[in-house]
Amino acid sequence: RAKAQGRNTIQYYDPAMQQEAVERAQLYADLRTAIAEEQFEVYYQAQSDASERIIGAEALVRWNHPTRGLLAPGRFIEFAEETGLIGGIGRLVLKSTCHLLKHLDDAGYSIPIAVNISAEHILQPEFLQDIHDILQATGAKPERLKFEITESAMIRDTHTVVEHMLELQKLGIRFSLDDFGTGYSSLSYLKALPIHEIKLDLRFVQDMVINKDDAAIADLVFNLAKAMKLEVIAEGVAQETQKDFLLKLGCNRFQGFLFCHPLPVAEFWQFLESTHAE
Ligand code: C2E
Ligand code: MG
Ligand code: MG
Ligand code: MG
Repeated sequence: RAKAQGRNTIQYYDPAMQQEAVERAQLYADLRTAIAEEQFEVYYQAQSDASERIIGAEALVRWNHPTRGLLAPGRFIEFAEETGLIGGIGRLVLKSTCHLLKHLDDAGYSIPIAVNISAEHILQPEFLQDIHDILQATGAKPERLKFEITESAMIRDTHTVVEHMLELQKLGIRFSLDDFGTGYSSLSYLKALPIHEIKLDLRFVQDMVINKDDAAIADLVFNLAKAMKLEVIAEGVAQETQKDFLLKLGCNRFQGFLFCHPLPVAEFWQFLESTHAE
């Protein structure tokens, strides 16, 4: 008994741990307020083909925190996944993206937009209904919507994830496998999942020009995708040399700072209009 109590007391009086607990509680409260007050802003990063024509975009969330400024997803997404708040954020991102898709469609731009979907969100029982409601409310075409999922999402409950994916696929929604080649990578997922596209992770792109191993992995991914009739998009393409290298591997889909940074929606429109006007 003394031992058990001792353990608890140590935890309670460890200032670093107590500090962390306080910070987590604060972040949780802030995030709940952020969801209720819709403090999130969705940025859009264009995706291009080899001739720099825009072929799509990815929605990337930022949190406009009232005192801490604009926060990148690395600062809060994982926490939101752990604490069950991710569904609230995901819904807001989907709503913004579907609104944009409808406006793009009305303006004659028929590009798809990809949204990152956490496993924790996909697995929620209300997920399918949420998607249905958002599509109805916004009038966005499901064929224009892509969901980016990661392989690590699969290990949690592959069966349910696949079931939900197949339902969404029936609506016309397509899927990309994000961060391909990292994490709990398993080639068998490529066979098991209704995937249309692989996103070659930026970690392979970054060093492929100077690192033979990265180049070999990238080459393998392109060959595999070709054999399986999947598209590949390279992420994190930031330099001309990387683009040239990817072109030689047969890549025709690019995303990265070389082409376009993630932009607030008004600037994304400007980028789209200026690119189309050329
Ligand atoms: P991701 O889905 O792999 O997104 C690509 C990340 O690479 C983005 O970071 C993007 O800004 C960054 N990036 C794009 N081009 C380049 C480049 O040329 N060089 C480099 N170094 N980086 C580039 P960001 O916006 O900070 O997002 C980080 C991650 O947070 C995303 O990785 C995604 O896993 C997650 N995330 C973002 N938005 C959402 C969301 O709405 N929902 C969920 N569940 N996750 C999200
Ligand atoms: Mg992504
Ligand atoms: Mg990625
Ligand atoms: Mg990622």
